[in-house]
Amino acid sequence: MGRYTGPSCRLCRQVGEKLFLKAERCYTPKCAVDKRRKAPGAAKQQRRRLSDYGLRQREKQKLRYTFGLLEKQFAGYVREAQSQPGITGQYLFQLLERRLDNVVFRLGFGENRHQARQFISHGHIWCNGHKVDIPSFIVKVGDAITWKPQSKEEEFVKARQQAGPRQQLPGWLSLDRGAMEAKVTALPKAEDLDLKMDPRLIVEFYSR
Ligand code: SF4
Repeated sequence: MGRYTGPSCRLCRQVGEKLFLKAERCYTPKCAVDKRRKAPGAAKQQRRRLSDYGLRQREKQKLRYTFGLLEKQFAGYVREAQSQPGITGQYLFQLLERRLDNVVFRLGFGENRHQARQFISHGHIWCNGHKVDIPSFIVKVGDAITWKPQSKEEEFVKARQQAGPRQQLPGWLSLDRGAMEAKVTALPKAEDLDLKMDPRLIVEFYSR
């Protein structure tokens, strides 16, 4: 599956918000959103008030960019969420949160989702004792996520072990930092998702 390969900061500037797509830089004054509040390509243009459509589209883009998905992939997740009983927006967030690349990022194994995705596709991550090299793999309750045993000796893994997760570990994951082994203990709940987006607007965007 393809992915966006352009500059990450451009995406944040486009939606006018910090999406924390990089790592250390996002928390320093070098962050492009903190430095320049205008949209790319609109140096002299002030941000215009968004229409209802624009508002919903921007909310959708924020979520899509956060998880590094192409439009077609994202629409597929929305369709799957719509086919489930219950609240579509919440199911959509839950589904994206359960992607293996997101889990690896949340555990601090990768310093951002892009790096987590690389570690997975290079075969460094195991799920239930087997290699899983598909970043979109959806984890379920009881799954054990670990590094490949040989990878644990690599310097970059030791560095990640020392650094640990930048944000607080969500309640649905448990982590033994010494052994770098983790378990999915529950399904993510609404309060576990530290995403500042309105799922209702995203669902409305696709229902128009
Ligand atoms: Fe977004 Fe700032 Fe991080 Fe760049 S540095 S990805 S603009 S949050």
